[in-house]
Amino acid sequence: MSEAYQQLLRATIEHLERLRSRGVRFVPASTDAAASLSRPPAGRTARRSAPTTEKQPAPPTPETSPAAPVVRLRPPAPGENKQRALETLQAEATACVRCPNLAAARAHVVFGVGNPEAALMFVGEAPGADEDAQGEPFVGAAGRLLDKIIQAMGLRREEVYIANVLKCRPDTPGRRSGNRKPTPEEMATCKPFLLRQVEIIRPRVVVALGVTAMEGLFERRCVITRERGRYQDFGGIPVMPTYHPAYLLHHESVREKRKVWEDMLRVMETLGMEITEKQRGYFLKARSQS
Ligand code: SF4
Repeated sequence: MSEAYQQLLRATIEHLERLRSRGVRFVPASTDAAASLSRPPAGRTARRSAPTTEKQPAPPTPETSPAAPVVRLRPPAPGENKQRALETLQAEATACVRCPNLAAARAHVVFGVGNPEAALMFVGEAPGADEDAQGEPFVGAAGRLLDKIIQAMGLRREEVYIANVLKCRPDTPGRRSGNRKPTPEEMATCKPFLLRQVEIIRPRVVVALGVTAMEGLFERRCVITRERGRYQDFGGIPVMPTYHPAYLLHHESVREKRKVWEDMLRVMETLGMEITEKQRGYFLKARSQS
């Protein structure tokens, strides 16, 4: 990438960040301008860092394209140390008080956990009580189910990366228990942290766990029953929408479990992972009997 292009990019980003700090949320741009911004500069090769899995087939073509803001991911800084970059970002998130009510109510900022070189990243919605208490995403009942899904794929939790759209637990004033869905404003405020995580890790596939994760990532309404199982593009990274593990905990239906599993099989295929006959058949026999 040429130095001139990098300077232009930095200046554009700084200008947009100044606007955002003044509360501006949308910037009018012509279709041509948006298209040229989303194109890599001439001569740039679309190369990604090596994932933990060896085979790298071409990313799938997105299957749906509902109206949503164009996502632009910053290219990795040359020679960037992913672990160090994530630690720096985590320190910034830990000190963040952009949502004063959430900052006042939280026990921990739940940044994310896993392998900075992960080929596969899971994105959920927000920390719940267990996650807030422990400072780690997906550690409650839904987290244990996510661990099982990851294991069924032949992976370990430490091999993937797990994060939420919102880094602080949505507060529930006047209530001692229970969770609430993050507001679109809260998700938009926190989004730069998730974007940077994706930019640093550069996973080959992102799995969006549930409707709120999809809405946070794409900043639009989502009907997860319609969208699950169909790849969507997030700045060049395929995103597989699927149900949140908490949904499976509440709907003990083999049919629903199979749907999530089919989404994971597609992800495994995209990552070039070996899939055994046993893995292909999970929840099939029970489903045909149900
Ligand atoms: S939710 Fe995100 S933006 Fe809001 S205070 Fe927490 S870290 Fe900061």
